[in-house]
Amino acid sequence: MECLFCKIVAGKIPAEIIYRKNGVLGFHDILPQAPVHVLLIPEKHIATLNDLTDDDQDLMGALILGAREVAAQFELSENGYRLVINCNEDAGQSVFHVHCHVLGGRSMHWPPG
Ligand code: 5GP
Ligand code: ZN
Repeated sequence: MECLFCKIVAGKIPAEIIYRKNGVLGFHDILPQAPVHVLLIPEKHIATLNDLTDDDQDLMGALILGAREVAAQFELSENGYRLVINCNEDAGQSVFHVHCHVLGGRSMHWPPG
């Protein structure tokens, strides 16, 4: 198994897991870019957003609902938070297993870098 996030799913690499529900796993990013920086991933391996199919509709819905729950868990709901999913090179994707960044706890800038 080559994929880093698949190894986290399998428990072969440690992570601070804070969410697991409906096929979605959430854990703290190892290099946080905000006071709260959680990664939400499908437990099943999907390399990029381009690789999603219609069969993944419920799973990706569960991922967004997971983000809402994580935001509430870390008391971000009222002040706000940002979800980011990078796809391929121009976006700076570095781990090729779909993941949604949940960023919060500070004000964010727009446009993003
Ligand atoms: P990307 O740049 O692909 O959108 O995001 C990958 C994220 O994974 C980065 O924010 C990076 O800090 C995080 N990351 C990389 N390796 C590990 C790891 O071993 N453990 C955890 N928890 N996060 C990681
Ligand atoms: Zn994977």
